[in-house]
Amino acid sequence: MPTKRDYYEVLGITRNSTDEGIKKAFRKLAFKYHPDHNHDDGATEKFKEINEAYEVLSDPDKRAAYDRFGHGGTEGFFGQGFEGFNFGGFGDIFDAFFGGATTATRQAPQRGADLHYGVTITFEEAAFGGEKELNISRTENCSLCQGTGCKSGSQPSRCPNCNGTGQVRRVQQSIFGRFTNTTTCSQCHGQGRIITEPCPQCRGTGKEKRQRSILIKIPPGVDNDTQIRLSGEGEAGTRGGSPGNLYTTLSVKPHQLFTRDGYDILYELPINFAQAALGAELVIPTLYGEVKLDIPAGCQSGRIFRLKNKGILHLHRSGRGDQIVRLLIVTPDKLTERQRQLFQELANSLGLAKRVKKES
Ligand SMILES: [Zn+2]
Ligand SMILES: [Zn+2]
Repeated sequence: MPTKRDYYEVLGITRNSTDEGIKKAFRKLAFKYHPDHNHDDGATEKFKEINEAYEVLSDPDKRAAYDRFGHGGTEGFFGQGFEGFNFGGFGDIFDAFFGGATTATRQAPQRGADLHYGVTITFEEAAFGGEKELNISRTENCSLCQGTGCKSGSQPSRCPNCNGTGQVRRVQQSIFGRFTNTTTCSQCHGQGRIITEPCPQCRGTGKEKRQRSILIKIPPGVDNDTQIRLSGEGEAGTRGGSPGNLYTTLSVKPHQLFTRDGYDILYELPINFAQAALGAELVIPTLYGEVKLDIPAGCQSGRIFRLKNKGILHLHRSGRGDQIVRLLIVTPDKLTERQRQLFQELANSLGLAKRVKKES
């Protein structure tokens, strides 16, 4: 354990200092090293040290014990307890003492809460964009009183508890002596006014729950988890504060034929042995309608064809992806007698399969 500095030395005072002198020295140092203002290394430690010294020297009994026995003499007073010294609790007293942050102010306008909704769209809507209606429930300003909470023709009256100031002062006793603490009035919540004749529709809250249908514009190119923000479409603010935002998170329904890889569309094209061996001209679906695709003779399973610009529109920039067609040679699992015969003949003619060069 490091040796403790002398309490008088900590506060920079002499052993003959008066109570007033101790208090003055403490104020100056505590203000200088308070962790709220001073972020230097060691300021917190210093602040603790100053407080500990003041705690002892400002109390006549503790001071007398300290004068007689030194640091050992004060252990009975707090011992380890001082280590758990709570800045938070002390902060209130400190701030009030120095005219700090506990001075209550009238409550400021408060922005409304944001709303979050999930929206499901089709694969095509994600690719091309579109509009979607979303039904939401949100808090709005009361339509009858426009959010004032007062019955039509009536006015809020001055709060009798705080006399319209929104603040209540009370005198508190602390280790520093008496001081006045100002808090927000609990009756009017800092408004300074109370509603004596409440609006019958919202019962004085100024708010009401409404169902709304919101039109969401979906830009082309969105994907799963794309978020769209609708400014000001969230919950109403309080005391004239602006409304929150509405956030929608998209999820895209899977497509029966296509899957997506970024802005490209993947499509698996099933063909049979004969088509693969002889080649074929096939019609295949794309998001932009059917297109012809020539399969050359001798294609292997897994071969890829790229259909330029048949993919998804880029989000936030021009251009689109491609459609990627992948051949899948399907082995027949049911054969007619005739087909069996033909395959048998083919098998005799082909012999054993050779390893084919891999398609790139
Ligand atoms: Zn109302
Ligand atoms: Zn009040």
